[in-house]
Amino acid sequence: MDSICCSSACWKVLIEAQAVEKIRLPFATSRNFKQAAKLLALDSKLEKSLLIPFREIKVECTIPKDDGTLASFVGFRVQHDNARGPMKGGIRYHPEVDPDEVNALAQLMTWKTAVANIPYGGAKGGIGCAPGELSVSELERLTRVFTQKIHDLIGIHTDVPAPDMGTNSQQTMAWILDEYSKFHGYSPAVVTGKPIDLGGSLGRDAATGRGVLFATEALLADYGKSISDMRFVIQGFGNVGSWAAQLISELGGKVLAVSDVGGAVKNNKGLDIERLIRHSVDNRGVKGFSGADALDPKALLTEDCDVLIPAALGGVINRENANDIRAKFIVEAANHPTDPEADVILSKKGVVILPDIFANSGGVTVSYFEWVQNIQGFMWDESKVNDELRKYMIRGFKDVKEMCRTHDCDLRMGAFTLGVNRVARATPEGKSSI
Ligand code: GLU
Repeated sequence: MDSICCSSACWKVLIEAQAVEKIRLPFATSRNFKQAAKLLALDSKLEKSLLIPFREIKVECTIPKDDGTLASFVGFRVQHDNARGPMKGGIRYHPEVDPDEVNALAQLMTWKTAVANIPYGGAKGGIGCAPGELSVSELERLTRVFTQKIHDLIGIHTDVPAPDMGTNSQQTMAWILDEYSKFHGYSPAVVTGKPIDLGGSLGRDAATGRGVLFATEALLADYGKSISDMRFVIQGFGNVGSWAAQLISELGGKVLAVSDVGGAVKNNKGLDIERLIRHSVDNRGVKGFSGADALDPKALLTEDCDVLIPAALGGVINRENANDIRAKFIVEAANHPTDPEADVILSKKGVVILPDIFANSGGVTVSYFEWVQNIQGFMWDESKVNDELRKYMIRGFKDVKEMCRTHDCDLRMGAFTLGVNRVARATPEGKSSI
């Protein structure tokens, strides 16, 4: 998943919601991994070694604030696994960032890159801060200090950061590249999701949302359906949610309702997404959109629809609301939106869930294309990026389905067994035991 930019007024809501993810994510990640390890009959020592991160970095970042006082923050980078290639994953700026959460997200990146079958391992980083409460120059100083502290431990063939929640291409990635290059010379491939002028890839901005579209198309085709037959509800209207909504409506899918941290809107005839995007940019949110009725954001997830796309926070589908979900399909554009208890309830109801480690892998897949272009020194045109992404997502879906058949399991376990098995096979200790 990519960056979600929001105003400082929205941070309180986001912080409260994130507290839920903080408690559940490490638990859910290890539970899913253990279940996959069991299905794969992994050696118990190998299982243990796959869980332990390669390296955990914790650094203190002190900066002068604009008013001259000092402020200290703690930054993290967890490098989970590099058996399949350089470690890869975003950097998140959020007040609730802590070692357990970053650890779990780094582990998810390891399985995600393996499911996508791109030659990477997994990593994740973050700084415990509220970006909405810092000025642009304070954010720049913080990013540069963080980069100074980790520059020796990241690198083109070691660990390649990218944007995530609270960080972005235009500023954060450009600052990281500039600061890193002061130590190591100009090295555009050290970070992905960069501005195009600094070696970013065409199509990277839309990539996670476009990947969600391709993944959804593949899932629906498996049920003999297509995007234009379906009614969608999307939670989150940041980079991922708004691109997914736009691409879905371009293909004739009806987007009935969307929400962001400031509100939710609904129109049973289908929202005019182009107008809604303009409204959201001008008004910093979907609230007050004239082409729709206001909706309680809490009620959004249980709206009547065919496909529900959570594209914002973790832990939003849980035992409190799972029974009331009316969608037939859930496509997880966010990282870990459905907790394990909700998984059980939804599977009993027959709801089909396309899991995050596959559904939102379009972002990191195009990050891989960006890295390849930087190393080749050759820029692809946008149609090549999008065509390649489509191939990766279609192949990924087939691979996940194959694991579902082999292990007689749902799509989440299909994706986890696929990712874990690929990593285990690439692990030196793994070769002898599987
Ligand atoms: N932060 C995104 C994710 O969670 C993208 C990571 C990347 O491009 O390296 O998948």
